[in-house]
Amino acid sequence: MNNASFVYQHPYVLKSKKHEGKILEDLFFREFGFIHWLMGRSGRLYVELWQHLNYLLEISKNLKPKMLCPVCKKKTVKYFYLLPKGKVGERYTCCDSPACQYAVKNRYLIKQELEVSFESINKLPRKDSMDAAGLLMKKVYGLPRCFKSDTTFNLFKGACPKPQKTIKAPEAIQLNLSLF
Ligand SMILES: [Zn+2]
Repeated sequence: MNNASFVYQHPYVLKSKKHEGKILEDLFFREFGFIHWLMGRSGRLYVELWQHLNYLLEISKNLKPKMLCPVCKKKTVKYFYLLPKGKVGERYTCCDSPACQYAVKNRYLIKQELEVSFESINKLPRKDSMDAAGLLMKKVYGLPRCFKSDTTFNLFKGACPKPQKTIKAPEAIQLNLSLF
């Protein structure tokens, strides 16, 4: 879909019975399995919901992890690991350092290594793993333990592409000349 025409101005409030009144943005962190389920129902969703959902998934690629690697405690996490029985968690995460990755893989039985992103979570094989990984992203992206719906909206808003600033070349050149 073409995201260029979509303007991200407010969180999406769900209208369906079971989830009525819930905020789509919050569900990324509270129940990602439901987000995945929605993604599989493209033709049956409200157009606004479908657009909003796709836009969120797209801009979520720009979110920057804040949580520190549990091994070195210096760099931010880049990977999370899926363990047998679909387990994921804070301990099974890692930065991009090969030494840290080795340490995690040496300590736990790892089934799969995934880059930290909602796109990766969307590919997980089980709903409970998706929900757990969504919850993990709360920590990864630095959300507080208890958050209000504007918290998740502001987080996604911050990940929107910034409009490019145009510099007027002649003025910029003049400025440089006057400095030297
Ligand atoms: Zn590390």
